[in-house]
Amino acid sequence: MADHFTESLNVARMHASSTMKAAQKAAELRAQGHSVTDLTVGEPDFDTPKFIKEYAVEGISKGITKYTASSGMPDLRQSVAEFYAMCFGAEIDPGQVAAACGGKQALFNAACTLLNPGDDVLIPKPYWVTFPEISTFCVANNVFIDTMETGFVLNADQVKRSITDRTKLLIINSPNNPTGRVIPPDEMVKIVEVCAERGVYVLTDECYLFFTYKPTEPYSLAVLPKELRDLVCIAGSFSKTFAMTGWRIGYTIASEKWTKAMVKLQSHSATHPTSFVQYACAKALRDTEKTLNAVASMLEEYAERRAWFIPALNTVDGFKCAMPEGAFYAFVDVRGLLGDRFKTSADVAEHLLNEAYVVVTDGAAFGAEGFLRLSYAASMETLRGAVDRMHRVFGKK
Ligand code: GLU
Repeated sequence: MADHFTESLNVARMHASSTMKAAQKAAELRAQGHSVTDLTVGEPDFDTPKFIKEYAVEGISKGITKYTASSGMPDLRQSVAEFYAMCFGAEIDPGQVAAACGGKQALFNAACTLLNPGDDVLIPKPYWVTFPEISTFCVANNVFIDTMETGFVLNADQVKRSITDRTKLLIINSPNNPTGRVIPPDEMVKIVEVCAERGVYVLTDECYLFFTYKPTEPYSLAVLPKELRDLVCIAGSFSKTFAMTGWRIGYTIASEKWTKAMVKLQSHSATHPTSFVQYACAKALRDTEKTLNAVASMLEEYAERRAWFIPALNTVDGFKCAMPEGAFYAFVDVRGLLGDRFKTSADVAEHLLNEAYVVVTDGAAFGAEGFLRLSYAASMETLRGAVDRMHRVFGKK
C-alpha cells in the first residue's frame, strides 16, 4: 500500500530540536573516526553521583518497577516540596508538585494545559530552542521580547510593554540557556507582578537553578507569596542538577488546579516517569548532605572551567564573550567576523567544523544570529583543545 503519511498540522509547524541536531552531528563525525571537539549540547560530563545510582538499583531490587500515580509517587512529590523548603524556605504543598519525564515534558505539560489557539506567548530572546516550538505546537503565537539592549537580562518594563489583551503566558529561564545571564531576584518578582496585574501566567524553566557562580545565588520563584505563585508554574529537572540527563526525570510546581490539569494530560501520554527513577530521586533529595555535596562539587568544576574558558575565548580573533552568571554556556558574539568571508554565524560555525572539527551551536537557533553557543560542560582538556583549534582557525588577538 502506498504510504500517504503527512505530518499533522500541529507537528508540521514545528522544527526539530537544533540543540539535539548539533549534538547528533558531532556524534556522527566522531563515529566516522574524526577527532571531534563537541561543545554542542548542554549535558554535564560528570557521571550521575554513585549514591543516586545505588538508590535506583535498590528500587529495582525492591520491585519498584510497576506503575505509579500519574502525578508521580507521593514520596517524590513530598521530597521535592521538602527540598525546596530546605534550600529556599519555600512553602510548597506536595499536591502542587507533579513528576514529569524530564524538564521538557514538564514544560510541555504546563504549556499544553494552559494555552488555546491564538493566545500570545511572550518569550524573551535569545530563548532556549524548545520554548517557541512548544507554543507553536499549541497553536499559540510566539511574541519575542528582544533583550539585546539590556545585555540579555529581561526586565519588568520590557514585559509590561509587551503585554496585550491576547497575552496568556510568559516563559522565562534564569539562569538562561543560551546566554548564562541571570535575572536578579527583585526583578524576577517585579516581572511576575507585572504579569499578575494583567492576568498573565508565568512558566519558569529552573533547570539551571543550582548552577550560579558567586556572588550570584540560586533563586527560585517557589518563594513567591501564594497569590503570585498561583500564576506561576516552575519546570524543574534532575538532568543538569544531578547529571542525570538520560534518566528523564523532572517535575512541575504549580497551583493545585494547574497541577491537576497537567496530571490529567500526562495520564494519557507518558503516564509517569520510570518508577525506580522516581524512587531514587526521592531518596536522593532526602539524603541532603550527599546531594548538596554532589551539586557543590560539580559547581566548583564548572566555576573553574568558566574562569579559564571565557577569558581564553576572548583571545580568539573576532570573538567577544561576557562572563555568564549561571548555567554552563559561553555565548560568543562573532558579529566582528561577519562580512565578505562569513555572512552568518552559521557560516562561522560551519567553518570551525570543517577546518577543526569543533562543533558548536549557532546562535540563530536561539533567535540570536551573530552569536555561537559553546557548552563548557566539558573537561578542561577538551576546552583547552577547543581554544587551540579556534586559534588555529581564526587567529589570536
Ligand atoms: N538543554 C540542553 C541544551 O540546550 C540539552 C539539549 C536539549 O534538551 O535540547 O543543549
